[in-house]
Parts: sequence; structure tokens; C-alpha cells
Amino acid sequence: MKVNKKLIVGNWKMNKTPFEAGILALEIAAKAKSINNKKCEIVICPSFVCLDRVSKAIKNSNVLLGAQDVFYEKSGAFTGEVSADMLKDLGVRYVIAGHSERREYFGEDDEEVNWKALEAAEAGITPIVCVGESSEEREEGREFEVIRRQVLEGLRGLNRGSFVIAYEPVWAIGTGVVATAKQAEDVCKFIKGIVGKDVRVLYGGSMNGANAGELLNMPSIDGGLIGGASLKNDEFIKICQS
Ligand code: PEP
Repeated sequence: MKVNKKLIVGNWKMNKTPFEAGILALEIAAKAKSINNKKCEIVICPSFVCLDRVSKAIKNSNVLLGAQDVFYEKSGAFTGEVSADMLKDLGVRYVIAGHSERREYFGEDDEEVNWKALEAAEAGITPIVCVGESSEEREEGREFEVIRRQVLEGLRGLNRGSFVIAYEPVWAIGTGVVATAKQAEDVCKFIKGIVGKDVRVLYGGSMNGANAGELLNMPSIDGGLIGGASLKNDEFIKICQS
């Protein structure tokens, strides 16, 4: 079965105070009224401390709430961590797991990403599991090998339909260097070959209003995970309109 509805996810990273996040969320929610929600599902992922404010701002709109991370234990002595049940209680529907910044700066490996994805899915939150090769791995021609490992290990034990994958080549994140539509399509198609055609696979990496149309038109790309461009309401909505 082909995936028809696109999924556009904004990852705000460590940007915006709760006050600023509330304003941006209100702007996006107002502009998202022009988007056909049968064709496009819109999610925004603010930082943990902004979730409550954003949740109120997008109430009764066609924008859904996402989070940027989750811990893999249910509760207990894990200072600073946030559980899936806490996110669920705030109305979170999606959570990013294994973003390359968390892999690089916080040492997350495939096993930890898998625990986080399993914990989210068990709580009824859809994990968006991020995979992607570094520039060195691509130069060495190892991108498919790396992606296969990240997909198989990161998704171990998850039921089909309970997760989304985001292909984010590390060299394209926050760099302004976007993968060509063919490069992105080739890897997204490869991922679908492993997990099944009906699993939603997003592309992420310097996507913006100008390049989104071509990327989102590719047959194996079911949406986008957007960083920088999701912090500007016009740009983000332009991507959704694509
Ligand atoms: C991201 O952080 O997931 C991302 C794709 O960032 P950017 O769009 O800024 O490259």
C-alpha cells in the first residue's frame, strides 16, 4: 500500500522560550488552516519546557504536538529525564528518537534509540526514528550498510505501523547542503525495501520552501523532518503547501 498523506514535522531543537514558542505555535496553527489535512499531517516538536504552552496554542487546530526526545524508563531516579507517560499526558503524539545530534553529542547508539522507540510506542506515541550516514560514510560508499544497521537495530521489536522513519543524512542537517532528490529517494526506497512500502519514511536535512516540492514529489518520500525552516512560520507553511 502506498502512503498518500504527507507528514511534515518541525523540530525546533533548543530554540524559543515558552513565551516565544506559544506565539510561533499560534502563528503556525492559524496559517495551517489553509492546509488540506487529508493530504498533509503537521507536527511541531518544541523543547520539553515549551510543550504545555504549545499544546494550548494548537488546541482545535490541525497541528499536532511532538517532542524531541524521551527516556526509555517508565519512572524513577533518573534526574533530568522525561518519560513517555509524561509526554502522553501533555498530548504528545509523536516523538523524535535518535536524532543525529543526540547520537553525536550525547552518545546515543542504536540500542538506546531502540529502547526509546519501544517505550514511546508502548505509551501510544509514534516514534520518529532518525537514521542517516555521515559524509565520511557516504564518501566510502557505506551509506546503505550504515542505514540498514540503524534501521534493523533501531526498530527491533517494533510493530509495523507503530513508527515512522526519518532519513537524515548527517552532512545535510543544518548545513544548507540538501541531498538531491535522487539521493534522498534512493535511500528512502532502500529503507522501504527493508521495512515495507506502507511505512512512512521522511527526508530531513536543509529542507526549505524552495526545495521541498521536488523532494516531496519523490515516490518514496512521505514527508519531511524540518529543523531551521520550521522556526519561520511562512517557510514552514510553504513546505506544508508543497
Ligand atoms: C533536523 O534537525 O532534523 C534537520 C533536518 O535540520 P535542518 O532542517 O535545519 O537541516
